[in-house]
Amino acid sequence: MKPNKREHLSLLYDISELSALVSDSKDIDTFLQKVVRSVASHLNADVGSIYLLDDSTDELVLKATQGLNPTSVDRIRMNIGEGLVGVTMARMEPLCDGAACNNPHFKFFEEAHEEPYTSFLSVPIHRGLEKIGVLVVQHRQPDYFDDADVMALKAIAAQLAGIVANAKLMIGLRQPVKAARPQTLPGDLRFIKGKASAAGFALAPAMTLKDSDPLMADLSDEIFHGSSNAYKRALRATIDQLKQLQEQLVQRLPESAALIFDAHYMILKDPRFDRQILELIRQGSHAATAVRSVARQFIALFAQSANPYIREKSEDIEDLARRILFNLRKEKGEGLSPIDGHIVIASQLYPSDVLKLASEKVAGIILVNGGTTSHVAIMARSLQIPMIICQHSELLQLPANTPTLMDADLGNIYIRPSEQVRRQFVERNRVRVETADEVVRMQAQTFTADGTRVQLLANINLLSELTLAQDLKAEGVGLYRSEFPFIVRSVLPSEEEQRLVYERLFQQMANRPVCVRTLDIGGEKVLPYLKLPQEANPELGLRSIRFLLKHRDVFDQQLRAILRAGAHAGGQLSIMFPMISSLDDFAAARQAVNDAIGELAREKLAHHHQPAIGTMIEMPSVLPIIDELANEADFFAIGTNDFIQYMLAVDRGNENVAGYYQPFHPSILRSLARIAESVNRAGKPLSVCGETAHDPEFLPFLIGIGLRRLSVDPLFLPRVQRTIGMITLDQARNYAQALVVASTLRQIDSIRSQWRASFQSHA
Ligand code: PEP
Ligand code: MG
Repeated sequence: MKPNKREHLSLLYDISELSALVSDSKDIDTFLQKVVRSVASHLNADVGSIYLLDDSTDELVLKATQGLNPTSVDRIRMNIGEGLVGVTMARMEPLCDGAACNNPHFKFFEEAHEEPYTSFLSVPIHRGLEKIGVLVVQHRQPDYFDDADVMALKAIAAQLAGIVANAKLMIGLRQPVKAARPQTLPGDLRFIKGKASAAGFALAPAMTLKDSDPLMADLSDEIFHGSSNAYKRALRATIDQLKQLQEQLVQRLPESAALIFDAHYMILKDPRFDRQILELIRQGSHAATAVRSVARQFIALFAQSANPYIREKSEDIEDLARRILFNLRKEKGEGLSPIDGHIVIASQLYPSDVLKLASEKVAGIILVNGGTTSHVAIMARSLQIPMIICQHSELLQLPANTPTLMDADLGNIYIRPSEQVRRQFVERNRVRVETADEVVRMQAQTFTADGTRVQLLANINLLSELTLAQDLKAEGVGLYRSEFPFIVRSVLPSEEEQRLVYERLFQQMANRPVCVRTLDIGGEKVLPYLKLPQEANPELGLRSIRFLLKHRDVFDQQLRAILRAGAHAGGQLSIMFPMISSLDDFAAARQAVNDAIGELAREKLAHHHQPAIGTMIEMPSVLPIIDELANEADFFAIGTNDFIQYMLAVDRGNENVAGYYQPFHPSILRSLARIAESVNRAGKPLSVCGETAHDPEFLPFLIGIGLRRLSVDPLFLPRVQRTIGMITLDQARNYAQALVVASTLRQIDSIRSQWRASFQSHA
């Protein structure tokens, strides 16, 4: 007989019953078996089963069953989202189906013998956010389980969660040898969905950074030459290659004018390194062994340093040894380095690593488990290296040279892609090349459908992007993120080094306006060499202008470099401050510019005398003082990326709260309208340079509230021009008006849907 709901609730375990489950079990398997037996009997079910999540493979594994074939224990495995059990774990909610085999998610396991059981009920077992497994009951009779059963099974799962979690932990501990599984898993791995971080495609053999390192791989000495002469030749070749790479990099990335390979040169100059290797060879060591052994000594030495920056440098020694060993090989392959033409899989990368990889002609980068910062992605984008970020650490086990296809437009990774996937890739690449023809169609000026002029400018991170900006007819640079020359180096760039970078920027933009934003570091943009104290809330800490106002030497140097480089700038020079939160901060920053101008005049150094001085609008605190600020600054640029982050108190880089990051939030829309009104009333130039400026649905809103200047990544210029060209001013105004009046996200969604619909019918 089936018990009713009231009986269920009284049938939940009491504490002594729970502890008996554990104490009466001779081992964990028996315990789990007892659990499923008692659950099945509590719910009068034919079957009771428990699946536990194997953390090393992310699979749900059948660990005990009452009613299914006992030999299927440990053999039935499902991914999260796969089968009814996997769906339960993915959704983290109960799943009750009176005719389970008709459910599209149903997955049939022949060995389980579950054909006769039509009714299915499962609940996730979890402890807080920790996913533990899934508890399942089944019954022959269709539509057997009801809401009361769901409640009861949920309550049981909640009660059992703690002890099952411990059992799972113990199982994990007693299975160290099973850790071999990830080794074999990549063999089955065919497709991974990641996050597209830098667009592009790559079809190439993949390698982890470790594979590229013979120091780690402990290859046999046999493949290397062993004599001291061979070592000397390899060393010379390495030095030549480093010089060559450096030169190529400077061409491609003028920001890196200082030595990217400075640590390498430093080590090469240290006589202990070279001499010790030669001494070991003289004593009879093989050259490869000698290089490895001395490199390891140096790594150990660096690892002891209290300075994290020096510790980090041990990677450079590894890199140097890898290059020397590469040149010691008997069989010289293609390319300058083992990375040449490969997709690199890494778990952590610094911006300087991206530079090195670019110099070694890496085909693409897959960053696993995120030790990521957005500037690594920006670097990859600027250097046009496809990059995908994903959470699959098993990729780090992928055998070297596994053929891999990255579709970094969509974030798709195909391991050993089939012929069909390869063909699709070739086809999409063709379309991509065709789209590149848009360059030709780009007009010099941008107008709405009824002729209102909108100025399109480019956001520039690296000077290498200027070419594309020019090809796509950007009318100037609306935002030059000056932090990149600081990020790619290992020491603070000098005034002179900065001046050279800015000079190239101005020269290349010839007579067009350029707006240089002063250093916006802090938060996630960390400069390790500054050795700043760690902050609990870096986004709310000593970021941007706050850092510059506190470290006036760094600020003054940068301002002097900008002003000096601007001496011969043909176009208008604008200097802009990030993260201004008060009139006082703005006044202090402006004073710093005026001080720098005064100082340069006294020193009789050529400089720009009257740059426009403006501010970004990124902080909600400027809203109530916007009218006063509008009178003070010469121009304004709304940084919607940060404005949304601070206005809505949602970390722009945190996936867990990504759902709260709502550009179309009523408070954002109304605030932007208010800012536009105040700044336009004051007759000051206003632009938007955050990501919203290229969103085809946000853009018309911006035009509607009065924006006539947008600054976007160069790649987006054609799309922005096309979108603007399709709307009239009236349409944009009506749309903006409706959005500003709406007070809920739902109302806003419906206005957007209407806009989309009417637009599609117009188009
Ligand atoms: C912004 O905050 O919108 C912006 C353009 O600045 P960044 O993305 O560099 O913080
Ligand atoms: Mg910002």
